[in-house]
Amino acid sequence: MNYNFSTIIIGAGLTGLSTAALLQKKQKDYFLLEKNTTIGGKIGSSNVDGWPIDHGFHVFIKEYPNLSLFPDLKQCKLINFEPGFIIIKNQKAYKNVNIFKKFFDGLLYNHFPGFSLKDKFLILKLSLMPPKNLPKNDSVLDFLSEYGFSKEFINDFFVNFFEGVFLDKKLDVPLWYFLFIFKMFSISDVGLPVGGIQEIISIISKRIPESKIKTGVSISEIYKNKIITNEGNEYHFKKLVCTDSSLEKKFDVAIRRNLFDEIYYNSTKCFYFIVKPENNQENIIHLLPQSKTISNLYFRRKNNKEMLMSVSTLNSEATIEDIKKQILEHFPKINIIKFYRSFEIKKALPRNKKFFNFNNENFCKYNENIFFAGDFLSSPSVNGCLESSKSLVRFLS
Ligand SMILES: Cc1cc2nc3c(=O)[nH]c(=O)nc-3n(C[C@H](O)[C@H](O)[C@H](O)COP(=O)(O)OP(=O)(O)OC[C@H]3O[C@@H](n4cnc5c(N)ncnc54)[C@H](O)[C@@H]3O)c2cc1C
Repeated sequence: MNYNFSTIIIGAGLTGLSTAALLQKKQKDYFLLEKNTTIGGKIGSSNVDGWPIDHGFHVFIKEYPNLSLFPDLKQCKLINFEPGFIIIKNQKAYKNVNIFKKFFDGLLYNHFPGFSLKDKFLILKLSLMPPKNLPKNDSVLDFLSEYGFSKEFINDFFVNFFEGVFLDKKLDVPLWYFLFIFKMFSISDVGLPVGGIQEIISIISKRIPESKIKTGVSISEIYKNKIITNEGNEYHFKKLVCTDSSLEKKFDVAIRRNLFDEIYYNSTKCFYFIVKPENNQENIIHLLPQSKTISNLYFRRKNNKEMLMSVSTLNSEATIEDIKKQILEHFPKINIIKFYRSFEIKKALPRNKKFFNFNNENFCKYNENIFFAGDFLSSPSVNGCLESSKSLVRFLS
């Protein structure tokens, strides 16, 4: 079969869906194709026994500037994480809470022996007065060290907290992006939608008529003016938007530029267990700087008898047994009832710095009529996807 559309979008992840929703608002002709049978791409939740279980550890940051593109995202009801974190060291839990509901201010009032007064002062300074001129050396860890933070503070707080955000222990992201995310955590409510992170996808996709999306269709070949699907159908386009860097490999040699060969991804695994509530504190991020395997974890109460424990790791080799062993090392009194689910996301976050904020445009004009958009050209976040879609749709209109 042959089809014709003005614009074809490949990929119904957040970028493809928000691009479609923005084109819909402008009453443009478009069609969206997705290889999976469900939409959402990397953002997904499953409903298990009435609980929304996210596919990987996500947080929703209410102050992301680009949420204003879809105002009902801002209205999304969250189960907030407590502003702060618990640090587990030598089997003791130290809570660091922000008394003004400003994340980092709370460090002033915490009693964790590892954080010095100077560290607490510097973190306040960094959240209230971020540097205007960034140093040429783009390394986040060098910046933090030159800023004056102690080694212990960098390791126990910065590395431990942000490795769970960037999925990288080296925090090897552009400094501007680190400072942006740092600011978001310091000013914003951070939580998870009541129905799981998938709610973001539901909110955006309800703007797109069902007739404009087809799932379960994998694109196998891409030419100058048409694409061919695994079913052998041809879709002809005037403009094509690709939202996954790997699609470049499907390009006909006559148009392929090999621009994205160097895009690599960080991976992560997330394990869910059911535990007895006992003394575990719910809805606050726990950091375990002494654990080689666990990046972070949190608890969420289901009822008086059961709590869900979400545990994330960057170690792709980690097994359920490894994780259990580590949990018991750090929480000797914990009562694990059962293992629930795990998710491995191999291609989680793009990590090549040179593609962030690509050409200051956040999307790529690949040739006259083919475009790439997505987190890998902007920044690996919900905000980055929305930025990329917004910039591209503005350009296309
Ligand atoms: C575990 C994890 C945790 C995260 N946590 C956060 C967080 O806390 N806060 C935050 O802001 N961001 C977070 N992110 C980042 C955010 O989720 C991603 O940036 C975003 O989901 C990427 O969306 P995308 O549409 O650009 O890419 P994808 O979601 O990868 O979408 C691309 C789509 O293209 C489709 N596709 C690929 N090839 C083909 C083909 N040949 N034919 C048809 N379709 C194809 C894919 O199936 C996919 O659906 C997290 C990401 C992960 C993985």
